Amino acid sequence: MTKHIFVTGGVASSLGKGLTASSLGRLLKSRGLRITMQKLDPYLNVDPGTMNPFEHGEVYVTDDGGETDLDLGHYERFIDESLSRDSNATTGSIYSAVIAAERRGDYLGKTVQVIPHITDEIKRRITRLAGDDVDVVITEIGGTVGDIEILPFLEAIRQFRLDVGRENVLYVHVTLVPFIGPAGEQKTKPTQHSVTELRSRGIQPDAIVCRSETAISSELKRKISNLCDVPVDAVVNAADARSLYEIPLIMHDEGLDAVVCQHFGFTELDIDLSEWEILVDRVERASTPVRIGLIGKYVSLPDAYLSVVEALNHGGFFHGAKAEVEWIQAEDAEGLLADGRLRDLDGIVIPGGFGERGVEGKVAAAGYAREHQIPCLGLCLGMQVMTIEFARNVLGLTGANSSEFDPTSAHPVIDIMDNQRDVTEKGGTMRLGAYVAELLPGSQVARAYGREVVSERHRHRYEFNPRYRSRFEGSGFVCSGTSPDGRLVEFIELEGHPFWVGTQAHPEFKSRPERPAPLFRDFIDAALARAEGRNPHLPDLDAEPPASSSSPATA
Ligand code: GLN
Repeated sequence: MTKHIFVTGGVASSLGKGLTASSLGRLLKSRGLRITMQKLDPYLNVDPGTMNPFEHGEVYVTDDGGETDLDLGHYERFIDESLSRDSNATTGSIYSAVIAAERRGDYLGKTVQVIPHITDEIKRRITRLAGDDVDVVITEIGGTVGDIEILPFLEAIRQFRLDVGRENVLYVHVTLVPFIGPAGEQKTKPTQHSVTELRSRGIQPDAIVCRSETAISSELKRKISNLCDVPVDAVVNAADARSLYEIPLIMHDEGLDAVVCQHFGFTELDIDLSEWEILVDRVERASTPVRIGLIGKYVSLPDAYLSVVEALNHGGFFHGAKAEVEWIQAEDAEGLLADGRLRDLDGIVIPGGFGERGVEGKVAAAGYAREHQIPCLGLCLGMQVMTIEFARNVLGLTGANSSEFDPTSAHPVIDIMDNQRDVTEKGGTMRLGAYVAELLPGSQVARAYGREVVSERHRHRYEFNPRYRSRFEGSGFVCSGTSPDGRLVEFIELEGHPFWVGTQAHPEFKSRPERPAPLFRDFIDAALARAEGRNPHLPDLDAEPPASSSSPATA
């Protein structure tokens, strides 16, 4: 019988509930359990696909093309399992399903209500992740207890325990223990209130995870235990960590996984955290600075590029380097070109995006990187602007553009494919999810992947226009990966440049801390080579064994 853990949050949002859930997932996986995870979001959007990244952060894409909450990225990176669209449900999607069933007449004329119909649909979403091949489903409930929209979810998970049995369900509540300066004390009252709120919905937490700036004392834990009726061993402190990768180790030291295993009767399972410890050690040693400019539209909300930044970090861990991201507003990129700031970067990433704003700045940055031999990685829109730049400035195709930005361009080097043209509904034409590409043997991209057939996730409408392909390929621009039928260009690179590589896909979604996405790994390597060239005092990371500390590194 699959066991279920429900993670709720109280007191404040952004406490790291998703990271807590992911860390617990990792710990249970490290005990040999088969884990899957899910996020239930109380907002009304049917999925995050249409939500503004300024407000909601990145849209994370799964292999099966689900446009999901960014917490799924944390889940995948921590438990190292590929999830599906079923791992994210919203109030909007749940109501849509219930209303569609009502229109079909499935309810046989009954009055359709929040309880039982909406709650039953929520429980169906939870149950469909369970099965013979899953030991534990971890379900995170978005929002905080006390929100109006969260009530049907709390009711559903309360009922769920009755449905499947007490021994198969565990509730974890994440709260904040703030430090109140004038009193000079950490305060438990918000936790008490939040647990009271949860109990008023019929849910008694089995464990409480207290987020705090600094460690809380055992006396305070006893107080929380007493007032919230949770065994003291199940009051877990997650004080701010140096890196997010430390969180599973902290949770383990605090005994969270032990509480879970005790509850579910998994007591005989030993934990093996050695792989994760190696990772944390590597993260701590990754110190050689490498300056990466991220030329984006949503740079005021770094969460909009969460997986890109994570993938850069992963590439850094691999090489013992620390990716220092410089957030560059795309609209400012042209100005930055003029003042020479881009020259000080070791690498430039041009991430995905929609809409015209900032595109010319990105084109300018791609051109600067090409001309000044600065490593450059283009992701989706990034590959498209590299293509536009090359068309205009190398091929001399004046006015070359994407038909997304200039529908009347004389040279639509990025365009909607003919078979998509008449699909007008927004979203209807999006290429979403995993697609296979075949790589050109011997190309930089094929060397990076170490394979010639790869699968990466997509989320876009426009494509490299095949009508122009031969013109590009005659000028040093290499189409180094295509769809298996050869029609769609998936990867590009430039002959004679240290690293000027673009992909129509989003390889950042499949990057893992222990296994960086190959293009990010090699991009960081190229950026490090440039950093060493600029700062000859940095150690040559490829020198084996390391030369004496005084010897200068080679560029
Ligand atoms: N706007 C571009 C397209 O739809 C790129 C999308 C993206 O970068 N994800 O093709």
